[in-house]
Amino acid sequence: MTITEHIAAVRREMAEAARESGRSERDIFLVGASKMNDAAACQEAIAAGVDALGENRVQEMTAKLAEDAYRGAPLHFIGHLQRNKVKQVVGKAALIQSAGSVELLDEIEKQAEKLGIVQDILLEVNIGGEAAKSGFAPQEVENAAAQAKEMDHVRVRGLMTIPPADATREENVVYFQKVQALYVDINRKMYDNELEYLSMGMSGDFADAIRAGANMVRVGTAIFGARDYSK
Ligand SMILES: *Cc1c(COP(=O)(O)O)cnc(C)c1O
Repeated sequence: MTITEHIAAVRREMAEAARESGRSERDIFLVGASKMNDAAACQEAIAAGVDALGENRVQEMTAKLAEDAYRGAPLHFIGHLQRNKVKQVVGKAALIQSAGSVELLDEIEKQAEKLGIVQDILLEVNIGGEAAKSGFAPQEVENAAAQAKEMDHVRVRGLMTIPPADATREENVVYFQKVQALYVDINRKMYDNELEYLSMGMSGDFADAIRAGANMVRVGTAIFGARDYSK
């Protein structure tokens, strides 16, 4: 199957899950996770109607930007972000989905201020409490949001999460439901319900994530095929 056919299949599954949770397919934002796929693949995905492309690695993103790989769609940064690379992402990515520490928020604020822009971000939630993963613990999210509110060049647009890779399907659904509850809670308490994005779900679980309330999914393999790590 081609990228275009894969996207049509993903869209059908998204639409069904959206209906099952009382929403329409138009309510769910599809981010194509394009890591390790070239500019031509990115352009095919954009032509086939992904709402954005998401990149994980700063170096790869920078190289593909130079090739105009993302022309026609917003670019999101979705991977682990090191503080010393923030400068290369701020102002390039329409949305940084992986803001997972106060140090990172401070650095994004600093770089955005230099450019005279407001950088849209999502707060990443480390829902599985994994030591090796970045992101705020659930009980830290409110405080992080409060700190971000004090920043003039950072705008929180929602939450993002990646559950532990070894979770069972049932555990995964519970993680999604917990982050959804947190999203609804801080949205009501702190943002007058103006947050827009709850980003959760990947190729193996985006339908479950949508049924649990996600309105943004990040799909790589189901669009682009298996990644070739041997190259
Ligand atoms: C690679 C990646 C995805 C997509 O993963 P697939 O399982 O290939 O769909 C989603 N989110 C993040 C943060 C990723 O790094």
